[in-house]
Amino acid sequence: MAEMRIDCPVCGAKAGAISKIDTSNIPYFGEVVENSILCEHCGFKHSDVMSVEKNDPAKHSLKITKDNLDSRVVRSQTSTVSIPEAGIKVEPGPKSQGYVSNVEGVITRFISASNRAKALYPDAESQKNIKETINFLENILEGEAEATLLIEDPYGQSKIADLKATTVPLTEEELSQLQTGFTIIEKDEIEKRE
Ligand SMILES: [Zn+2]
Repeated sequence: MAEMRIDCPVCGAKAGAISKIDTSNIPYFGEVVENSILCEHCGFKHSDVMSVEKNDPAKHSLKITKDNLDSRVVRSQTSTVSIPEAGIKVEPGPKSQGYVSNVEGVITRFISASNRAKALYPDAESQKNIKETINFLENILEGEAEATLLIEDPYGQSKIADLKATTVPLTEEELSQLQTGFTIIEKDEIEKRE
């Protein structure tokens, strides 16, 4: 692991931020480089992960079961992560983070995002929908609900490292529909679940 002090890209503090670079080897994927920046002055935090190898645009999917919650997941900053059955999706954007985690970690991130959304959508209907989404996500973790983890990555930097995961190339149409904006929860999808 390499660590160095850099000028903060946000507040400009001279040598105010610590940049860490770590490489690790993910089974069925290869070597990845994790990079994180943390500024002690303004609190700016960023992390991303990149594959050393070049890969094609791809859609990865995995039927989530209790047995594969610990399978490794590489989510690059440029990919869209979703659990369609839960009506929840994280799209890439300036604030999105790349990370190496596991299936459980991705679901936990979705639960945290849903809890944050509670504050953004105070109306009763949204609160009800968000509560249902959180319950559903918790049921997935308990092995009581069936769901699919989907990662769509136009730059081929992501992966679900599980033998049962499937990988197919993204079609031109899917590529053109992938968002680059910043959205935590697709509200339309939540409303459709009623
Ligand atoms: Zn700073």
